[in-house]
Amino acid sequence: MSRSVLVTGGNRGIGLDITRAFAEAGDKVAFTYRSGEPPAALTELGCLPVRCDITDTEQVDRAYKEVEEQHGNVEVLVANAGVTRDQLLMRMSEEDFAAVLDTNLTGTFRVVKRANRGMLRARRGRVVLISSVVGLMGSPGQANYAASKAALVGFARSLARELGSRNITFNVVAPGFVETDMTRALPAERQAEIVAQVPLGRYAQPGDVAAAVRFLASDDASYITGAVIPVDGGLGMGH
Ligand code: NDP
Repeated sequence: MSRSVLVTGGNRGIGLDITRAFAEAGDKVAFTYRSGEPPAALTELGCLPVRCDITDTEQVDRAYKEVEEQHGNVEVLVANAGVTRDQLLMRMSEEDFAAVLDTNLTGTFRVVKRANRGMLRARRGRVVLISSVVGLMGSPGQANYAASKAALVGFARSLARELGSRNITFNVVAPGFVETDMTRALPAERQAEIVAQVPLGRYAQPGDVAAAVRFLASDDASYITGAVIPVDGGLGMGH
């Protein structure tokens, strides 16, 4: 059955592969992008681009209205958009801290809250939040990012309890290091250090994360809620 799926930050990186994976499986998929042109790789597949900055509640509402008009109520939401502003604590400004929280945590709150309206009415919904292994392990220079990603676990688990009786599931995927613009920006030495700590000895590909997300949104995962699924090559084992 073709569902209405929305992926935030679907224009590149992990979000692009998640969007593509749902579209190739036959769902009606919309994705958000912030600026520039939406990628042809997705529009050619029939995916619906909606411009939206998730730090702005009005833009979130407008994006949902567009998706609802074209595809109906969102049945599967993947909250993937995220940013980093890495800095050691002594140099981290309050603005750097707040900006990361505003996108990664409050931005996720904004899109989940808006999705909830239609899901409650339908008494059905799947929400998958993209966290990170560093939310559980910590990472020097990433206190803002790790705090935002750890917070998503408490957020999802609270909602899993609050809305389980309405048949809405909330799960978290915690990727390790994935080959995208975000990790390509790290210094080469840091990248080598990371790979040395990963039992599988390599970065993940965005498609590895997309596969876990699709599973959590599938019928096979209908009894899974409040879970944190690592896709990290074994990096965070035990968390
Ligand atoms: P990228 O930097 O490649 O892409 C980030 C995406 O988020 C872009 O589409 C970007 O849009 C979007 N975005 C950022 N801020 C906003 C905003 N305010 N409003 C709307 N969209 C926004 O990141 P990745 O693909 O690597 O990461 C995707 C998710 O996975 C993130 O949540 C990240 O934290 C998480 N993650 C990534 C890991 C990795 O190793 N890469 C590891 C663990 C987790 P735009 O193009 O407009 O900037």
